[in-house]
Amino acid sequence: MHAFLFIGPPGSGKRGAARAFSAALICPNGGCGDCPSCHDVLAGRHPDVVFVERHGASILVDEAREVTQLAQRTPRYSRLQVLVLADFHLVDRAAPALLKTIEEPPATTVIIVLADTRAPALVTIASRCVEVEFSPLDVESIAGALRADGATEEDALAAALAANGRLDRARLLVGDPGFATREARWRSVPEQLDGTGAVVATLAAELLAATDELLVVLTEHQEAELASADAAAELAGERRTPGRRAIEERHRREQRQVRTDELRAGLATLAAAYRSRLGTEKLAARRAVSLVAACQEIDAAAAHLSRNPNEMLLVQALLLRLDESN
Ligand SMILES: [Zn+2]
Repeated sequence: MHAFLFIGPPGSGKRGAARAFSAALICPNGGCGDCPSCHDVLAGRHPDVVFVERHGASILVDEAREVTQLAQRTPRYSRLQVLVLADFHLVDRAAPALLKTIEEPPATTVIIVLADTRAPALVTIASRCVEVEFSPLDVESIAGALRADGATEEDALAAALAANGRLDRARLLVGDPGFATREARWRSVPEQLDGTGAVVATLAAELLAATDELLVVLTEHQEAELASADAAAELAGERRTPGRRAIEERHRREQRQVRTDELRAGLATLAAAYRSRLGTEKLAARRAVSLVAACQEIDAAAAHLSRNPNEMLLVQALLLRLDESN
């Protein structure tokens, strides 16, 4: 069998697993983790392990044909080459163009398909792959992975708790000095609201500016990845890095995703701040009602985030409503 499907929610570690699995497949020592081949694969700069990224909102038929061509290539340095096909829950109408390649790739090509969900268009492809399911990670597994990366016990746990089952997000948070301050900022919103629009405007601007801080950390990771890809291309004697534009496009998607996740986490912290008052304050009935209403407003705003709203307007409108019920 020469095709695998790694399927599971975003952040469940599929990409990292695909990298490690590829390293094992092409390592001359059966996956030692120590030889130059393993090092290059794990660093994302081995020419025989290619991550194929999409360019648009879904996988295009042309991109599928490109995969078929790539699959015919002879490996440069190894016995095998590995093609990792990213985001294939978005395979859509490109699926038929790939069926034959995935069913019967050349003997020197192994294909790993990555998908977040079992989309209908993916079903025929899935039936030709060995499936490996990934689940959202629990806090302890995430913390364990962060400790293995070198994080302290305390940092690992804090980042794991705030990562909502996503190891990629936890890895960002653990390297982010502003993480704790940002959480504290969201938690203090109820005390700061004073019934004036000016405070709402200032708070909204501060909260969104703080969200951008995390992007600085992400950008560093992304620049390192591009540098690795460039190094791989140079090693392979290519004048240009293959797929560089697709990587850059994925990076922009990741930036949007990280912003949304960070805002969602901020809103969850804010909701928790109201909820804890509900539990601890000696409340008049009317006050309890307004705290519950606040939690509902926050949940509604969080749900709205998936529809790509204007974030500043969303946060301002939310804070205004919370201010009224404060
Ligand atoms: Zn090795």
